[in-house]
Amino acid sequence: MKTHVKALVVGGGAVGTSIAYHLARAGWNDVMLLERDELTSGSTWHAAGLLPYFNMSYATTHIHDYSIKFYKTLEAETGLNAGFSVVGNLRMAQTQARMDEYMVYATTAETCDVPYEWLTPAQIKERYPLVNCTNLVGAIYHPTDGYINPADVTMAMAKGARQRGVMIERKWQADAFHWTGDHWDVTCTKMVEKGGNLVPSDEQIVIHAEHVVTATGNHPQRTAKLLGLKIPAIPVEHQFIVTEPDPALVEWRKAGNPEHPVLRDADAKWYVREERGGWILGPYERNAPARFEYGVPDSFRADLFPLDLERIEEEYMSMIHRIPSSETVGLKDDFNGPICYTPDGNPLVGPAPGLRNMWLAEGFSFGITAAGGTGYYLAQLMVEGEAEIDMASLDPKRYGSWMTTEYAARKNEEAYEHVYILHHPDEERPACRPLRTAPAYDRQKALGAQFGHVNGWERPNYYGPLDAPETFDHDARSFRRGGWWQYAVDEAKAVREGVGLIDATAFTKHVVKGPGATQFLDWFTCNKLPKVGRINLTYALTSKGTTRTEYTIVRLAENEYYLVSAGAWTAYDADYLRKAAEDKAGDFGYIEIQDVTTQWGVFAIAGPKSRDVLKEIVKDADPETVLGNKRFPWLTCRDIELGMCPVRAIRVAYTGELGWELHHPIEMQNYLWDQLMAAGAKHGLKLVGARAQNWLRQEKSYRAFGNELGRDATPLEADLPRFVDLDKDFHGKEAMVATGVRSKCCTLLIDGPEDADPWGREALYDGETRVGRLTSGGYSVAFAKSIGMGYVKPELAVPGTKLKVKILDQLWDAEVVEDSPYDPKNEVIRKDG
Ligand SMILES: Cc1cc2nc3c(=O)[nH]c(=O)nc-3n(C[C@H](O)[C@H](O)[C@H](O)COP(=O)(O)OP(=O)(O)OC[C@H]3O[C@@H](n4cnc5c(N)ncnc54)[C@H](O)[C@@H]3O)c2cc1C
Repeated sequence: MKTHVKALVVGGGAVGTSIAYHLARAGWNDVMLLERDELTSGSTWHAAGLLPYFNMSYATTHIHDYSIKFYKTLEAETGLNAGFSVVGNLRMAQTQARMDEYMVYATTAETCDVPYEWLTPAQIKERYPLVNCTNLVGAIYHPTDGYINPADVTMAMAKGARQRGVMIERKWQADAFHWTGDHWDVTCTKMVEKGGNLVPSDEQIVIHAEHVVTATGNHPQRTAKLLGLKIPAIPVEHQFIVTEPDPALVEWRKAGNPEHPVLRDADAKWYVREERGGWILGPYERNAPARFEYGVPDSFRADLFPLDLERIEEEYMSMIHRIPSSETVGLKDDFNGPICYTPDGNPLVGPAPGLRNMWLAEGFSFGITAAGGTGYYLAQLMVEGEAEIDMASLDPKRYGSWMTTEYAARKNEEAYEHVYILHHPDEERPACRPLRTAPAYDRQKALGAQFGHVNGWERPNYYGPLDAPETFDHDARSFRRGGWWQYAVDEAKAVREGVGLIDATAFTKHVVKGPGATQFLDWFTCNKLPKVGRINLTYALTSKGTTRTEYTIVRLAENEYYLVSAGAWTAYDADYLRKAAEDKAGDFGYIEIQDVTTQWGVFAIAGPKSRDVLKEIVKDADPETVLGNKRFPWLTCRDIELGMCPVRAIRVAYTGELGWELHHPIEMQNYLWDQLMAAGAKHGLKLVGARAQNWLRQEKSYRAFGNELGRDATPLEADLPRFVDLDKDFHGKEAMVATGVRSKCCTLLIDGPEDADPWGREALYDGETRVGRLTSGGYSVAFAKSIGMGYVKPELAVPGTKLKVKILDQLWDAEVVEDSPYDPKNEVIRKDG
């Protein structure tokens, strides 16, 4: 057995096998795949093999799309038939809200070239007479997906991998990982059978691997322990049952009719497909328990849990309602196996936090569907440094050190239960909340705050009625303008016309200081560094020249900087910053990186009257001038005192109004809140949530990280040349310049439907031709119509271009407008007083 390899992939399920295959295909020699038991002996062997396109994430849609296309090519390459039945996939809707969901999804699918059709209940009945359509509103149909045999597709990928030189070693378990400074020494133990169990023998070897990928299926907690990490992947029980042949179905097929597509009754929370004349029913029921929180017992190999029929009774009865002929057929088989989940339902794919050359591919709940695409895009990330799609939404570092086993287990149970719950874009899931709360949480709640959560933090989305029932926010959700919409409109207007207070405590904050700090940040970010006391907006790029992180940089002293970035990405940003600083300390000198996110609270006060409110409480020898343009110009930072609270005040406002971010010691937050509220009462201060802020920033064309800014576009493509200093050298510059501008970010005002705004995922059309997609969407109070930002070809990203946006399955007029349609000259931001 070889002991020196370029890459060692741990785990021979569908996912690990695909990664090994794609690494070899991407040109890496010496790839080894290690499996503690047999290939497919984890969750892969008992999967139902469905390959559903449907999901609401852009990255995942691309991954699924790649898999579906790739699996169709495997037979030609390997001679092995993976049993791909392209029967299509019919998602039925019992309500208009469900149809709205499909319409929101369909426009995203279009942006990824995924085909679909709409069917009415009558059309469903005509095509599939065994389906009872009485309480259906319609359906969306995907003609190109279906199901596959999970073990066969894995074996075909394994054969393809071997053909490309991958070494596959079975019955070897990775037991210890040691980073030597330039490679991993992985201690592997030969596994042997003992009394039906799989146990470690005394035989061990050490494999020297430049890179390691873990794809350990149901064993992520063991993997996490070995690596000294937290990995929020924990399996949940998932069952499906197989019926005896249904005579009506057998007759139907005998008459020469085609196989039914995979039927999904989302409102009833199940899928059904044909299996040898009978039906497979796969429910996503309530109360499926998490398993293996602390590891998988040795005795659990290719095993199953006992069937819990009672738990799925409701779904079983609804299958009988939908397919009446199934009522009298008996059960032939059942499967109840572990299916790995993560708190948000997306897998964890990418570099492991804090470690070098260690890659995670864990937490797959649709691992058969995702395996192909995961292998393809992860191999790009490893071999080329970046993938063609932005993988940030799958990055393992989207959970921070605050994450615990209990959190992951309860959230994963919730993610499982939510597979078929309506995926409102304004959905906020309740499990494990509140958990991370800033001190003002209780005060905000008492004033009607309806919270969303960002990286575990509670953050007001909007302020609803004071006497709102517990279910208010839940009932306010919609694919159109929800019950919260008017509250957000009033809040946005208050910022434009008066003054609003926004809690931005969740922002990520880092201090970067030390002798090497200035040179390091100059190399690390693409804009000029600010002078002491000033701030700049800037970007850290990937090696491909795309945007890795957006920072507001405050220069506190010659060699000391305060970096503010998006709240959702604290661990992601910290990891990249620390690794880069470590790499560059030799060139630039010592650089200290401190994550101070939880030490500083942030309130943003914005609006024409914001200065008047602050003047009431600012303590200064001359309170009248301390906040004026002369002493405190736009884009500067000053230490001020608000009552007895020392505040690092930064004169910026993400809303585009006159305003300040008030960074304050977290332990003084309630004191500061009370001061601001008391002072604000006289000036009509309104509390404002994140939803209104998101709309307001679009009126200013402020790009948001994760929307307009990401690892699939350069800052030049984001049309931000004013924040890129081409006169200096910086990381990613050459690649950014070489990339050119493939598509360009622009802002659009939209004459949309009366009761809906875009969510920022909709397809853009030029006449009948699809030309791009929105990345943000919402409502503009300044223009009294819908607004959005998105990417189109550069020649279309020109003010005055007339385009169309697909919202709720219809095309609506949209016009590309100048950047910053509201206050294009930044006059209100700069207002003196
Ligand atoms: C009942 C059921 C139905 C399902 N239906 C579908 C479906 O229709 N469609 C779909 O897409 N998904 C489905 N799934 C989910 C799917 O099974 C998984 O997402 C997928 O199999 C995960 O693949 P994997 O490679 O990540 O993990 P696994 O298949 O579990 O493979 C991980 C492998 O790693 C090995 N391993 C672990 N630790 C080590 C170590 N230290 N050293 C060496 N080897 C190690 C294990 O032995 C195992 O073989 C279903 C799941 C269940 C339970």
